[in-house]
Amino acid sequence: MSKSGEKVIHLPATISVRDLSEHLQISPIDIIKTLMTNGVMASINQEIDFDTAAIVAAEFGFEAAPEAPPEIAEAEKSADLPLWRRLLAREPKEALKPRPPVIGILGHVDHGKTTLLDAIRHANVAAGEAGGITQHIGAYQVRHNDRLITFIDTPGHAAFTAMRARGAQGADIVVLVVAADDGVMPQTREAIAHARAAQVPIVVALNKIDRPNANPERVKQQLAEIGLVPDEWDGDTLVVPISAKEGTGLDDLLEAILLVADNTGILANPNGKTFGTVIEARQERGRGVVATLLVQNGTLKTGDVVVAGTAQGRIKGMFDYNNKPIKKATPSTPVSVMGLDEIPVAGELFEVVASTREARAIVEERKQRAAEAEASRRRGMTLEQLFAKVEAGETQELRLIVKTDVQGSVEPVTTAIKELETENVGINILHADAGNITENDVMLASTSDAIIIGFNTQPDAAARKLAESEGVSIRTYDIIYRLTEDIEKALKGLLEPEEQEVVIGRANVLAVFQASKVGKAAGCRVVEGEIRRNARVRVRRGDKVLFEGEIASLKRHQDDVREVRSGFECGIGLKGFSDFAEGDVIECFIIETVKPL
Ligand code: GDP
Repeated sequence: MSKSGEKVIHLPATISVRDLSEHLQISPIDIIKTLMTNGVMASINQEIDFDTAAIVAAEFGFEAAPEAPPEIAEAEKSADLPLWRRLLAREPKEALKPRPPVIGILGHVDHGKTTLLDAIRHANVAAGEAGGITQHIGAYQVRHNDRLITFIDTPGHAAFTAMRARGAQGADIVVLVVAADDGVMPQTREAIAHARAAQVPIVVALNKIDRPNANPERVKQQLAEIGLVPDEWDGDTLVVPISAKEGTGLDDLLEAILLVADNTGILANPNGKTFGTVIEARQERGRGVVATLLVQNGTLKTGDVVVAGTAQGRIKGMFDYNNKPIKKATPSTPVSVMGLDEIPVAGELFEVVASTREARAIVEERKQRAAEAEASRRRGMTLEQLFAKVEAGETQELRLIVKTDVQGSVEPVTTAIKELETENVGINILHADAGNITENDVMLASTSDAIIIGFNTQPDAAARKLAESEGVSIRTYDIIYRLTEDIEKALKGLLEPEEQEVVIGRANVLAVFQASKVGKAAGCRVVEGEIRRNARVRVRRGDKVLFEGEIASLKRHQDDVREVRSGFECGIGLKGFSDFAEGDVIECFIIETVKPL
């Protein structure tokens, strides 16, 4: 009901008389009569505009409101948003109720994420609650001004970047921790990119202000430069000075979080379909699989049957973050549950289904699909697939992550790329920075369907591996016009098949010895794939490539061989290079003609 007591009805920009009559449940004759009295002669199939329809609606006691423009409706079901958000968008609006905000904490290593999470927890979790046991289940809740706030508390070190990337996806608000004595660093920028990709607002915790060399003003300047303009400079970003170590500013931070939460409208339907995100999971002796689930809609109950990826089972035991047994969990509540048959993947969506039989059927189908995907290997977004999506009207943007060799080329390269934007396809550069292509870049690309562009820079070994398993495309270039040419062609859907190298194996140099004719040779262990006598190789030392060329000799013991597989040792001599050192990596690759991206 509107304020004036009229029924609100949502109408499009234009509507036929027939459709309007159906919307209002008024006979078309009456509508045509009303139009006539207002000086409009219309037939039943005639389209009338919103203003005219609004006048008619008012005559029958309705207040007309414009329907959401198609772009917004489209964005709501946008494939770029995390799955849980898209599911939430399907809940009937009137059933939605406020729920506690879920906070993810991101930031550069050592800037104080762990200290902050511990400080908030200790300052706000009532002592004595459930015996005050500090049980880490990957999430906890605190009360501030009598309102609950949920924090995702997954380990912060570098090995957990994947989880952190997903942390941003499950969260409603990201607290970005920036140390006041260190400023904006590469992982700060990555964190921002994650938050932006997941369309999650950011609150900045300006940490370590107790440090004598803290320089908050400089950090605010840096933040403003990357689009996070502090509110005190008339921007939209709340920047809260804190010391996680001394526990100062924490209340202000919680206050800021609630303020942003109120502006964002954080809702769920506690009576709707039950689903949420897996925060973490592990096998525990005597308890089986224990998974921390964040309920994001509906109400999770013991006895419910849950599916998460290919894990399924009936919930046998459910505990809150204080390890207290509970029977029900409403939206934004983190719980640890027992009863799943395998360890689900962190970041995955879980949902409640009607029966164990249904759960098994879903899992069966997923396993089959996974096997098919594995068979076709490259699962990630390719430029070709992107073009198909553009054609089908499913997407209007090409998402890129751009890495360059030096800081100075970030700006010219991104500008050159941006210039290629067309009317039909926008280019969204999620993250651009100098340095190697890392696992973080691949994670970001994978969670946001982006393609990674490297200019004079290469992926490191870990990134390459992750990209292969996640099916993320990495394109590297050393000439700018080749790069722009490719993107331009891709945007037009004209990319030709091209030659691309495929790494087929890697060997570590364990020793260097003098071999007769070929000068020095390297005693190696193949650690990945295989080394092939007639393939090409490259010698890497740390970040540097020392040599690229051909193999002169490949030996197992004294015998010449055609190939050596992973796990075996061999001697390798190269044509035109013998300056090996222990610890070098010999990478073996072939050139294949591949389909575009
Ligand atoms: P993380 O890698 O972001 O999780 O960072 P940690 O929480 O592990 O903190 C890294 C280091 O910074 C630790 O030695 C902390 O004691 C220290 N630290 C964290 N917050 C503060 C702070 O507010 N002031 C000072 N002086 N040191 C802090």
